[in-house]
Amino acid sequence: MTATVIAPVKLCPNCAAQAQTTDLKCPSCGKKYKKKSPVLKILLGIVVLMIAVVAGCTALVGGAVNEAVDQYNAEQAASAISQETFDGIQVGATRADVDAAVAPAVPQNTQEYTSEGVLDETVIDTSCIYFNREGGQFGDAFQFCFDGDVLRSKSSF
Ligand SMILES: [Zn+2]
Repeated sequence: MTATVIAPVKLCPNCAAQAQTTDLKCPSCGKKYKKKSPVLKILLGIVVLMIAVVAGCTALVGGAVNEAVDQYNAEQAASAISQETFDGIQVGATRADVDAAVAPAVPQNTQEYTSEGVLDETVIDTSCIYFNREGGQFGDAFQFCFDGDVLRSKSSF
């Protein structure tokens, strides 16, 4: 008997025999004492759960992003006009002329301003409509600005 080591009393989970031993095996039935600790199991469970949640969220977010991108692309396409269409529209055209020329595209954005004339108090309604460039890059746009019903300026950027 070694005097320096006090062996712990162990309860065998297999045969329920108690033994004071430093051995990893039960001296009664020979089964190993060592078991996966329940704490370790719980931690492992939490990790697995977290991975599942993260994976689930990623899939969900990924799906939502794809949906948003699809919707965005559809909206971009619905508001796209070609360079030729842009070139064919002349300053001085009416809003109805422009609407007919760009059809079936609809403006992706409309801004309206009201300003008073400098020399008199005539109220000028200015509105600008924006279209995407067909086959263009992100941010490519055509702008048409109207004073009242008449196309005052157009630009592409
Ligand atoms: Zn045992």
